[in-house]
Amino acid sequence: MDFHFTPEEEAFRSEVRAFLDENLPAGANANAPAFLAEWTQKVRAKRWVGFSWPKEVGGGGASIMQQVILKEEMAKRKAPPLGTCFMGLAWVGPAIIQYGTPAQKQRFIPDILDGKYQWCTGYSEPASGSDLASLQCKCVREGDEYVVNGQKIWTSIAMWSKWIILLVRTGGLDSEGQAPGGAMRPASKHEGITCLLVPMDTKGITVRPIKNMSGGSMFAEVFFDAVRVPVENRLGEEGQGWQVTVSALAHERSSIAEVEGLRRKLEELKELARKSRKNGRAALEDDGIRRRIARFEAKIEGMRFNGMRALTKQLRGEPLGTRSGWRSLAALRALVARSRNRRRHTEHPEEHHRRARARPPEGLMSTEDRVQRIESLLREKLGATDVQVVDESHKHRGHAGAAGGGGHFRVTIASPRFAGLSLVQAQRLVYEALGEMMTHEIHALTITTRG
Ligand SMILES: Cc1cc2nc3c(=O)[nH]c(=O)nc-3n(C[C@H](O)[C@H](O)[C@H](O)COP(=O)(O)OP(=O)(O)OC[C@H]3O[C@@H](n4cnc5c(N)ncnc54)[C@H](O)[C@@H]3O)c2cc1C
Repeated sequence: MDFHFTPEEEAFRSEVRAFLDENLPAGANANAPAFLAEWTQKVRAKRWVGFSWPKEVGGGGASIMQQVILKEEMAKRKAPPLGTCFMGLAWVGPAIIQYGTPAQKQRFIPDILDGKYQWCTGYSEPASGSDLASLQCKCVREGDEYVVNGQKIWTSIAMWSKWIILLVRTGGLDSEGQAPGGAMRPASKHEGITCLLVPMDTKGITVRPIKNMSGGSMFAEVFFDAVRVPVENRLGEEGQGWQVTVSALAHERSSIAEVEGLRRKLEELKELARKSRKNGRAALEDDGIRRRIARFEAKIEGMRFNGMRALTKQLRGEPLGTRSGWRSLAALRALVARSRNRRRHTEHPEEHHRRARARPPEGLMSTEDRVQRIESLLREKLGATDVQVVDESHKHRGHAGAAGGGGHFRVTIASPRFAGLSLVQAQRLVYEALGEMMTHEIHALTITTRG
């Protein structure tokens, strides 16, 4: 990994800094609408909105390193966002650039760059959240139109959006076990999903805001009752919706510049601890507070190096896949565990050696010990009458190193405590019972409950 920047990259960094000095002076009210409107125009003129997008569609055609530098400098100065159409810029635009027809690119990309209106995202459904590919929103083709019937939930800003990027099922089995439109049963639930771009004012769409605990509403339920969508609004091929979605979301996972924002917050936290008093002296001199700040610092450094690893892959033109998402989180977890160990060693050598004697060298249990410990905790804390734990790390390539030799377990459990509980409530009890192990020893659980 090369940590140095080329002279051209350094020159670009200076250009961004000069722009910020001029347009975001200290004390500017960056939240004022007039300031934001002017800011948006200026960054758009620089082509820094959609900076990574190809020049042909109106983007900046920037290199990966230029994007990183721009985002880093913006985050350091707490600059307002680059563009106002959040979901359009984050995943709708990249998906249209990759899978859209020339007409779709022409129709949507300039408006997304100019922030003319908002997009919302219709993926989650009442029975399809984490397991998104099980979605059931039904869609049948009738001539040049699709007819959509079903429901979405947790749709952020649906109330203010003009368009929705929608995942529907055009093939595969629906909730009655039927294939919509008589399509052939596909080999996997990831097939038979199609992506549509739908105007929110289409007849048959009803938006019902969900009130949160503070009385406000950011999410909504969205109902589709015989909603007719022209076939030309399909993004990608019929049945290609899963690929369209996964590759668009992958764009979101690859950035490391957010680390700069976290670093800045950490500096603010240190400053606060320097100014605050605890037990008659500066809070920053308190051992407990120092340890917590050190822990944050280690985590942020872990994220930075992990982000650099992903960046190196990007620069080499290697596919990021899902590594920069969940897998890097697992790697970060192990990294933090290791750096904590190192700090313990430096700060409290006796304590470190006492712990080291009680545990394997990396501070992590062996897989066999973990399986046994999970079983005994579930019997002890939940009175489980039957519990089987199987290590499935081999099915999830890449976890082995990340969580220190394993970490993905399938748990099948029966307990009288589950009587009358929903699956999610029972799963929550399992997580609580394993609480002490969830930090390092378990990367992920697949839980099946019985009676
Ligand atoms: C701030 C915010 C904004 C969002 N905006 C949008 C949006 O604009 N559009 C949209 O489509 N969605 C949106 N979502 C929804 C989100 O992306 C997820 O789909 C949703 O939160 C997860 O689904 P669920 O709530 O049904 O939970 P579930 O899938 O029911 O999961 C509940 C719990 O059970 C666990 N769990 C689930 N299955 C298993 C299993 N097999 N084994 C062990 N544990 C399991 C989960 O980890 C979780 O802790 C948003 C969510 C949030 C928090």
